[in-house]
Amino acid sequence: MNKIVIAIDGYSSCGKSTMAKQLAKELNYVFIDSGAMYRAITLYFLRNNINLNDSAVVENALQHIQLQFAYNIAEGKSDMLLNNENVEAAIRSMDVSNNVSAVAALEAVRTFAVAQQQQMGKAKGIVMDGRDIGTTVFPDAELKIFVTADVDTRVQRRLKELHDKGNTDISFEEVKQNLLSRDYIDSTRAISPLRKADDAVLLDNTNLTREEQLNIVLNLVMERASGK
Ligand code: C5P
Repeated sequence: MNKIVIAIDGYSSCGKSTMAKQLAKELNYVFIDSGAMYRAITLYFLRNNINLNDSAVVENALQHIQLQFAYNIAEGKSDMLLNNENVEAAIRSMDVSNNVSAVAALEAVRTFAVAQQQQMGKAKGIVMDGRDIGTTVFPDAELKIFVTADVDTRVQRRLKELHDKGNTDISFEEVKQNLLSRDYIDSTRAISPLRKADDAVLLDNTNLTREEQLNIVLNLVMERASGK
């Protein structure tokens, strides 16, 4: 079967990464969580008090950022490294979540991240999830999926994920506000706003189990990889 590029986009906490990770495992593809890159850049900016309104300062800061993925066998996915430091846990904090969309809206930040993402897709056999993968990063991807789900379902899933990681002092409302605010900023920004590519398949997974969702997507992969 030909190796293809799979682009998965959608709103925050729709289970994009879970789907991408499952797919990559089934197909023996590389999985890239592009959101982790924007989160790592945000962590660096927060730690160094970078003023987002000063483009020269932002440009200069980006020159000091090196992003890498390191495969974590136990998790079955890659951890994000920021300047050789494993920041996988730190980038999932509410502080980063509350600031990442403003950082990701900056042109210099997007140019920096997109160039690296496109490089990773050159050899195909990749599943990348994010907000602009089907529209900007891989406009020629053989399979594009746009995932959506009911907002309260998304909040419940995100809350469970945070609780499972020991963040038990975060409320339903706090998570909901963060998701809605990120969705708003992500879909209204000037550069590469979150939107469904015209040729993406829309998948609402509110009432789907992970297995049902995986089967639907694997069928789409079989179709596309055989050139249908
Ligand atoms: O996927 P995740 O929720 O971790 O992404 C965090 C944030 O990074 C998003 O809310 C969005 O602001 C930004 N992002 C983006 N483009 C991508 C992936 C993520 O702007 N391709």
